[in-house]
Amino acid sequence: MKSDFLVIGSGIAGLSFSLKASRIGSVVVVTKKKEVDTATNLAQGGIAAVLNPDDSFTEHIRDTLEAGAGLCDENVVQMVVENGPARVRELIEFGVQFVKEKNGALSLGKEGGHSRRRVAHAFDLTGKEIERALVESVERCTNVKLLENHMCVDLIVNDTPDGKTCVGAWIIDEEGKIKRFSATTVVLCTGGVGKVYLYTSNPDIATGDGVAVAFRVGAEIDNMEFVQFHPTCLYHHQAKNFLISEAVRGEGAYLVNKSGERFLSKYEPDEMELATRDKVARAIDKEMKTTGVDCVYLDISHKDSDFIRKRFPTIYQKCLSLGIDITSGPIPVVPAAHYLCGGVKTDMHGRTTIKNLFALGETACTGLHGGNRLASNSLLEAIVFAENAYLWCLKNNSTMLNQGQKEEGLEEDIENNKERIDEEILINHNWDIIRRIMWNYVGIVRKTSRLLIAQDRITEVRREIDQIIEKYQMTTNMLELRNISLVASLIIEASLKRRESKGLHYIIE
Ligand SMILES: Cc1cc2nc3c(=O)[nH]c(=O)nc-3n(C[C@H](O)[C@H](O)[C@H](O)COP(=O)(O)OP(=O)(O)OC[C@H]3O[C@@H](n4cnc5c(N)ncnc54)[C@H](O)[C@@H]3O)c2cc1C
Repeated sequence: MKSDFLVIGSGIAGLSFSLKASRIGSVVVVTKKKEVDTATNLAQGGIAAVLNPDDSFTEHIRDTLEAGAGLCDENVVQMVVENGPARVRELIEFGVQFVKEKNGALSLGKEGGHSRRRVAHAFDLTGKEIERALVESVERCTNVKLLENHMCVDLIVNDTPDGKTCVGAWIIDEEGKIKRFSATTVVLCTGGVGKVYLYTSNPDIATGDGVAVAFRVGAEIDNMEFVQFHPTCLYHHQAKNFLISEAVRGEGAYLVNKSGERFLSKYEPDEMELATRDKVARAIDKEMKTTGVDCVYLDISHKDSDFIRKRFPTIYQKCLSLGIDITSGPIPVVPAAHYLCGGVKTDMHGRTTIKNLFALGETACTGLHGGNRLASNSLLEAIVFAENAYLWCLKNNSTMLNQGQKEEGLEEDIENNKERIDEEILINHNWDIIRRIMWNYVGIVRKTSRLLIAQDRITEVRREIDQIIEKYQMTTNMLELRNISLVASLIIEASLKRRESKGLHYIIE
């Protein structure tokens, strides 16, 4: 398979870049499950941008910098915020239907850490609406070929006089065949790493593959210690990873303990429920550990029930299906791994430290989020950087296309015909070990001694995984396990290096 652009991932980053890149070249998008199996599809709250005359770039910049704990790249923050309104308008042109007020203006939500209402939304189905519109646009685009159930195993990188150059990727298909996909430009849009943790709001695809493949070819990875834990995931044995959006607190919900006490008054008396996620997640963690309970409660039942049903239709329905009526009672919630602020380091154009390799969306570490992401800034980051990467490719188009890689003599397939693993338990057990270690030892509140224990155990597990991969036929489950184990060690390593608490990285000793 050869194309000008090989895009890995079909979330907001991958699809919006592909639509643009298709104007200047052929695009192949590979996605490891179905096209809509993305975090994008699950996003509820919306996308932040300055869209209201009362708001200003200065305020959005200030809110982003404050959340980022002094670690944001100010130039990047300014660039993203200033490009936000145009990119949201472009999403509308792609067919995204955001909710509007009666006067035709966009209805804007307010979320924790934002000083203004600036979150464009499609009720609590914003991501699904964005994904729908982008998938439909891509389907209409003859220059984009989208292949489902195709997973990137590793990148193909050549040593050239001006450093390492990415020339394609090895892709495993449904039948277990591993094929060479050659491209002039490779774009990693593989999303987050939530599956590294036992509890997560993320979909199953979030196994940090982009970070892992980029690390293995020597790309710079940054800020891996900054994992955002969303304070409010639904706590119910039948709910795997269902998020109760930040917007619920934004619309006035209270967080209470089992006695009905608004316990944030003990931890965040000024901002209460509208404190940033890290603060609220830590407060919940503390409250749960101190009182020995399994969850706390989010209560919006004091608001008008018609408003609740209309504003949060998905959350209302999901909870109701589990016997929880949010218009009349509280929702049991726990914090869960939600978003990776770090990732593959990029410049303003989404370029990584490997030539012709870009990283966009949650896989990338662009400098926007610093130590903590402001709510609803990630969809924004994905579309702004997709545009920047496209503009860079447009500008450098001739150079890039002329660099088309020579294909003769290249290995076309990787043999994957060793014996099949007969005990899947070897894989599944290691998934469980890694996710528990990370949850218990590398979670919301960290301690050096626990990080060191985690480091030892993960190193041991990684050795075992390498042996399994060496011995047996590769499967996607195995490859994902290898990736989460690598990402786990990168998070631990970064956490051990940062000795002081900063942003999302909270270390007590
Ligand atoms: C429940 C939830 C709610 C959220 N709400 C909001 C919100 O309201 N506002 C906001 O700004 N952000 C929100 N976020 C965060 C935001 O949704 C994500 O950061 C963003 O959608 C990431 O987009 P992406 O394109 O980078 O990755 P994704 O949308 O996750 O897409 C990743 C793609 O990569 C593919 N992939 C992964 N690995 C491979 C591989 N090895 N080979 C091939 N394909 C691969 C996947 O199959 C998938 O298609 C939320 C996240 C979650 C989980």
